[in-house]
Amino acid sequence: MDRVLKDLEPKLVLEYFEDLTRIPRGSGNEDQVCDYLIKFAEKNGFSWHKDHMKNLLIRVPATPGYEDHPTVIVQGHTDMVCEKNADTVHDFEKDPIKMEIEGDKIIAKETTLGADDGIGIALAMAIASDKTIPHPPLELVCTSDEERGMTGVEAFDTSLLKGRILINLDATDEGVFVVGCAGGPVVRVEIPIAYEKAPQGYAPIHIKITGLKGGHSGEDIHRGRANSIKLISRIINDIGRNMPYKMAEITGGLKYNAIPREAQAILLVPNDTKEKAIDIAKKMTENFAREYYSIENDLLVTAEEINKTYETVLTDISATKIMDFITLAQCGIVRMNHQLEGVVESSVSLGVINLEGDKAVIQTMTRSSSESMYMDMYYNIERLAQNVGAKTFIMSNCPEWEYNPHSAIKNVFESTFEEIFNKKPKFLVLHAGLECGVFAKKIPEYVDMIAAGPDLRDLHTPGEYIIISSLQRFWQFFKEVFKKL
Ligand SMILES: [Zn+2]
Repeated sequence: MDRVLKDLEPKLVLEYFEDLTRIPRGSGNEDQVCDYLIKFAEKNGFSWHKDHMKNLLIRVPATPGYEDHPTVIVQGHTDMVCEKNADTVHDFEKDPIKMEIEGDKIIAKETTLGADDGIGIALAMAIASDKTIPHPPLELVCTSDEERGMTGVEAFDTSLLKGRILINLDATDEGVFVVGCAGGPVVRVEIPIAYEKAPQGYAPIHIKITGLKGGHSGEDIHRGRANSIKLISRIINDIGRNMPYKMAEITGGLKYNAIPREAQAILLVPNDTKEKAIDIAKKMTENFAREYYSIENDLLVTAEEINKTYETVLTDISATKIMDFITLAQCGIVRMNHQLEGVVESSVSLGVINLEGDKAVIQTMTRSSSESMYMDMYYNIERLAQNVGAKTFIMSNCPEWEYNPHSAIKNVFESTFEEIFNKKPKFLVLHAGLECGVFAKKIPEYVDMIAAGPDLRDLHTPGEYIIISSLQRFWQFFKEVFKKL
């Protein structure tokens, strides 16, 4: 098979990356990529250790003159997200990724490219094996199963590591170094509900919200996008201020970690008020259009009478509990980071609401780079839940990586970047989870960490690409960093 990237710089990095694109490595399927990395280690005379989760640790001795420098952990994840276009024939269990060069891009048009985080692994391999680059002792940590919830790194035995400096290569903006990340629990709230016989003389009104932008509930929370569950609660509350209603259905959102894009409810209102109920929903639509002008241009609210008979509806107490919870629950940015301008520190998002038998189930997610803040948001959810007779369950808990303004590795990255590019880099506390949080939690001593990488775009979707010139600049910078460690 012809090598697509053979003439492109940086050669060694792209040679390793191209090898990686030929190895099937969807989450959970990392054995072959481990074999490849073990071969690489043995060829270079590096010792290695593989665990039952397919995490791989490769120990790289220092280059001459760097033997007594502190060990540096260089980390990336070997697995990738496997997505393809609906009409694309591609077997992620055995087919190599088809990629091409298009202008300044290395792109896979029909599938994901796996630059996330293949490029991180390739960069680590190149630093370790390029004989011209001086570096301290390195521990390459290649983790598995990051994309399905970081279960690889969770199981990794960090007591094997000597290093207390860690460079994570899973960041995707050149010149923006990640110096912290958010953690926080995903919380499931179960509100007990009961049904009663539907009243006579009522008409069912179907209210539906669609067309919202949605997005990641952490990384997109600062964009001010509408939350469909919050919007529908406002319509229902406004109807409730004007007439009695019975709730038959309510549902919204698909994922706990996404801003919900759609929501719908069916309310039964007295026949002689149904026009008014529909009018109220329409009036609210005008308010939303004004409030979200230029943010949510495709927002659509529909309200119409439907031709369906409901035998039962929620009791008033049940409907009130649900409405109290979704109306009063905190949602959106809670606090900005006071040390890094424009960076969100804490947020919480209502993700999903569904009626499941005798419960209304709500999934909500808290995020903060400060543990005390995400616990405070959690306690708020718990308290509100108790007030409506609901139970809360912590479904998973992602650990935070707290920002340290005095980080030494941050200073090295900053000064090296300035020397080479004559400008200051940006620093970001990611409002999402990163494997660094798990290392911070599992290693008892302080670990000085930073995350970096070249520009990668459209991750996790077909059409994922690397910006070649950005990778070239990043490589120039990255090599320089190791001389100073
Ligand atoms: Zn990644």
